[in-house]
Order: sequence, then structure tokens, then C-alpha cells
Amino acid sequence: MNLASHYVCDDCHARTPADVPALLCDACGGLLEMAYDLTRVPARDILARAAEHREIGVWRWADLLPVPEGTEPLYLGEGDTPLLTTRRLGETLNIPNLMIKNDTLMPTGSFKDRGFAIAVGYARALGVKQAFTYSSGNAGASFATYAARAGIDATVLVEDSAHESKIAAIGLYGARVLRLQYRSSLEIFASVSALTRAGLYSFVNFINPIRHEGMKTYAYEICEALGWKAPDVMVHPVGTGGGLWGAWKGFRELRQMGVIDRLPRMIGVQPSASAPIVRAFNEGLPSAAPHGDATRTVAQSIAGDAPIQGGTRVLSAIYASGGRAVAVDDGDLFEAMRLLGAEGVTAEPSAAASVAALLRARSQGWVSENDTVVAVITGSGQKQPDVLVRAAPPPAGDVRADPDELLKWFGDRMDNGR
Ligand SMILES: *Cc1c(COP(=O)(O)O)cnc(C)c1O
Ligand SMILES: [Zn+2]
Repeated sequence: MNLASHYVCDDCHARTPADVPALLCDACGGLLEMAYDLTRVPARDILARAAEHREIGVWRWADLLPVPEGTEPLYLGEGDTPLLTTRRLGETLNIPNLMIKNDTLMPTGSFKDRGFAIAVGYARALGVKQAFTYSSGNAGASFATYAARAGIDATVLVEDSAHESKIAAIGLYGARVLRLQYRSSLEIFASVSALTRAGLYSFVNFINPIRHEGMKTYAYEICEALGWKAPDVMVHPVGTGGGLWGAWKGFRELRQMGVIDRLPRMIGVQPSASAPIVRAFNEGLPSAAPHGDATRTVAQSIAGDAPIQGGTRVLSAIYASGGRAVAVDDGDLFEAMRLLGAEGVTAEPSAAASVAALLRARSQGWVSENDTVVAVITGSGQKQPDVLVRAAPPPAGDVRADPDELLKWFGDRMDNGR
């Protein structure tokens, strides 16, 4: 049974029915949030139903998602990614209970698929035929894929700094691509808001209130894997904050249902070249002013100089959870990519940001040795192959394919103790 009840406006608290493809508040233009009637069905029934339907990934949580009754899952394999225990990485960081949520294994190679599967499925069920989003690359690829499967006409506005392979993927998956020239993200938000007000259905994070509903499934999967306990700390890269906010909403719902008894501290990570949320956090502010230059980092997927609505939701989650916002340099990201590689996880730099933040967290005392920590790895390194080349160590040598030369090269490096 779908427990979605209605949308509530963040600002004026006006209500909108859950089965209207609403974007912003009709009364005041504020952001909408879906509310649920979480106590109408016993939690154990919801969890049991979810446990029985692992073949449909994020869709197994349909009771807790705004998908109308009878909606056919728009399923491509999203969700139920592994929660890996770490070996060397936990030792290196001195966090023995460090786990990695490996969302690089999603259908289009990033965690965006959690949100788009549900949001596009919802839009299709309510009759949306044409829609757009804007993207630094990964959101566009994910949107294009699910929209194509749903038969929705899709246009993606891409930042002109987006990597050409990311732009190519969007076209390959069947969407129209428009490259955007702009000076600040503020111009992008003004443009997408105008398109939304003109009536075009938007999948831009937060303007679209359903994408982060899909992101909630992080919280469900992680708590389920930990025996219905929340981790002490969850570390998540932050661009718009939709991923972190969605996970936080999921944890809060589980607590409301009495399934978990405490919430994790949420650590959000941004590149120091462009870290509006981190600056606002360090100054104790409720919303973030524009900061930095998003072109001066390899972490394209989390490089934005001005979060939508000042990042108020993500900041409130970080404050309320007792977490923090952390800035990392490109050098930290390369090191984190190598550490993750040795765990069998190929991360794009934005995704490695979770581990880069933990390189500092232990020495700064933000995380203790006894904490159970989940670092979310949000996207695959195959998305930015040029950066993989920069992060990886160079070849150890050049040798001719000649037995004598190779034997000489191995020489005393040879271990005969097999
Ligand atoms: C989009 C993206 C992020 C940031 O997610 P938000 O929800 O915008 O905060 C982080 N990592 C990767 C790989 C992404 O594609
Ligand atoms: Zn309102």
C-alpha cells in the first residue's frame, strides 16, 4: 500500500495532493516535500514485503514511495548495491568499521539512477509526456535512460564544462542535449525556474520533489544490511544535496516508524575550489551564498558555486544530525581514488570525495575508531577516464617482450617462496 499522503510547502506549509505532478508550491513558489502516513500499516509488514521482492531493487520499497497503486516498476537494475566491508582502507584511515556503499554499479554508472527510476516512473504514471533537466553529466545520462524507457520526450541542458563522454552518453541514451553557456549557477537556476513556471515538467533536483524520494532507498538498504540499525556516520558527496537530503529523509522515516532508534551524523563533502555549503557550515549559517569557481576542480559532479535555494535543506540535515561539511582538494581526491581502487571500486573523483573527507576526519576527531561509518561511492571512474589516468600511478617500467630482459627486470623482485 502506497502511504504517500500529500505534498507540503517548505515555506507556507500549503498542501498539494500526492497524485498531481506538482513541482513548486502554487501559493508561494516554495519547495515541496512529500509527506507519508507512516503509521497506517505496521512497519514489519512493509519491511517483510520489501524483503520478499529483491528482484526489483529500489521498487521493493514502493509502500514508502509516491508511486501510484499498480505502477509497473521502471526497473533497469537500480538499487541493492553492495555494502562492502573494507580491508586496507579501514586500516589506513584507522576506522575498522568502515563500509563502502558501492553505487558505481548502477545501470548508468551513478547513484542518480535511484532518483530517476522513481521520479520518471511517477511522472509516467501521472501522464507527463515531455520534460527537461539540467546536469553536469550523470543526471542527464540517468534521466535520458529512464525517460527513453518511459516514452517521455527528454531534453537535457548540460553545463558546457561537462566531459564530452558524459555528453555523448546522454545523446546515446536518447535525449536531446543543449549545451549551456553561463557565468554562475545562479543563471542556470533562474532559467530552469522560468521554464518550470512556464509549465514544462522539470527533473531538476529539489524543484522536482520526487528525485530525492528515490534517494531515500539508500537509508533503507543500509539499515537493512546492518540489521535495522543506522550507521553512526554517513559520508556523502554534495552537489545540489539531493542525495544527502534523500538519505536523511529515509533515516528519519525509519525512526518515525520505530524501525531504528537513532540517526546517523551526516557528513557532506565538496571540492574546496567551489564549496558554498562548507563555507556556510563553517560560519554557522542556515543558507549558502555563492562561493568559488566550479571549473577549478576535477570533481565536476559536485562542483556548483550556488546550490538551489541556498542549500537550506542539506544544511539543515547536517546541523540536525550533528554532522559536518568538509572541503577536499583535487590531490585528496586522487589519493582517495587510488585507495578505493585497491578495494576493487573504480570511483570518479566526485565519488571518491567521501573517502577523501575521511582522510581528514580521523585526524580532526570527527570520526572515532568505534564508529560504524558508511562512505557512499556515488559514481564510476569510467565516467571520467582522463582523470583515472591522472590519478593512477604511472607504469613501473618499459621492457621489451624478451625472456632475458624480463627475467633481468624481475631479478631480485622475484619471490620464489611460492
Ligand atoms: C550528482 C552527483 C553527486 C552530487 O549529488 P547531489 O544530489 O547533487 O548532491 C555526487 N556524486 C556523483 C557521482 C554525482 O553524479
Ligand atoms: Zn508555499
